[in-house]
Amino acid sequence: MSEKGAAHVYLDNNATGVVARECLEAMLACLRSGIGNPSSAHAAGMRAKGLLHEARAEVAGLVGARPQEIVFTSSGTEANHTAILGTLAARAGRRHIVASAVEHPSTLMLLRHLEETGIAVTYLPVDSEGRLAVGAVRDAITQDTALVTLMWANNETGVLFPIPEIAETTHALAVPLHVDAVQAAGRIPIDLEQLPIEMLSLSGHKLHAPPGAAALFVRKAFRIAPLLWGHQEHRMRGGTENLPAIVGFGSACALAQEDLEVEALRIGRLRADLERGIVERFPAARIHGVQAPRLPNTSNISFGTLDGERIMAALDRRGVAVSLGAACAAGGMDPSHVLTAMGVDRRVALGAIRFSFGRYNSEACVGRVLALLPEILGEVAARAA
Ligand code: PLP
Repeated sequence: MSEKGAAHVYLDNNATGVVARECLEAMLACLRSGIGNPSSAHAAGMRAKGLLHEARAEVAGLVGARPQEIVFTSSGTEANHTAILGTLAARAGRRHIVASAVEHPSTLMLLRHLEETGIAVTYLPVDSEGRLAVGAVRDAITQDTALVTLMWANNETGVLFPIPEIAETTHALAVPLHVDAVQAAGRIPIDLEQLPIEMLSLSGHKLHAPPGAAALFVRKAFRIAPLLWGHQEHRMRGGTENLPAIVGFGSACALAQEDLEVEALRIGRLRADLERGIVERFPAARIHGVQAPRLPNTSNISFGTLDGERIMAALDRRGVAVSLGAACAAGGMDPSHVLTAMGVDRRVALGAIRFSFGRYNSEACVGRVLALLPEILGEVAARAA
């Protein structure tokens, strides 16, 4: 499987990835085996329980966790919400949360809702490269802080926050840290044995598994209240497990772990070729976050003040799938909150295009984009004139 849907070049892996053949086969085998409910005591139930155990070990293995510390959820969004709401509920006396201004909407929208209910939230700023200062986290923590929740890798720019250093700080201050690693897991090494954090979110569909299975790592000694009550998932997430999706998620984690470093290097080279090619051809191009440590697969680029929506649509018409930094809003487009927090001018931010690579991209994808861009940018510039 090399490409997604009708697109010939799929460069939107931060949105969702092409399903890996290994996942598909594992899921089909699970479905065809006439799965039971892992909570049932009969043979079919026991087989299902075995598959669930296996997947849990594979997910745990990717991030250096223990299997019993993995709680399966339906999505990264649910994992983030379980971490935030579950911690607030378990530490009812504390009513302050620290986050960054550039978190994923699944976190930001929940935090804004919580503010309406009287929870105080500190949104930490980032610099012009999207970097977060460790000192800012330390300074924001108060006696009332229930939780620090921060992403590891930004989904729009790929910029990495210094989670190991931040973890030292929160650990020293005995404040729980939840890390949204939905974009980071499987793309950079993560070792929870060495990292003193309480919770970490990851999501299967960013790792070439289909949507429907994700996980929250919850450190053994840390207690949160569930969002969904029930006996499943160590009583931290009720509901019959979505076993086929979980099996796919497990096999995607095993696949990612197998060649993480080799793939990161390969993908990093593709990204470097793309960025070099773009900057050579269009000196006005600006790569957002280029000075910061970044994921190897993500590139967020504005082409002067050319309109991003038009560039994206023109690429799409030629079979190249990329993502737009800006979001549709009533009455037009809203620039990305991430680029806005980085101080990027509104018009430049409205032009931002995100290219995100994955396992099934090759040099040919880079070549195709570089071959198409001159014509497309010429067209878009002519329409703007
Ligand atoms: N966190 C980050 C950083 C993401 O990029 C995403 C999805 O794009 C999510 C959370 C939400 O994950 P899911 O799509 O599995 O709900």
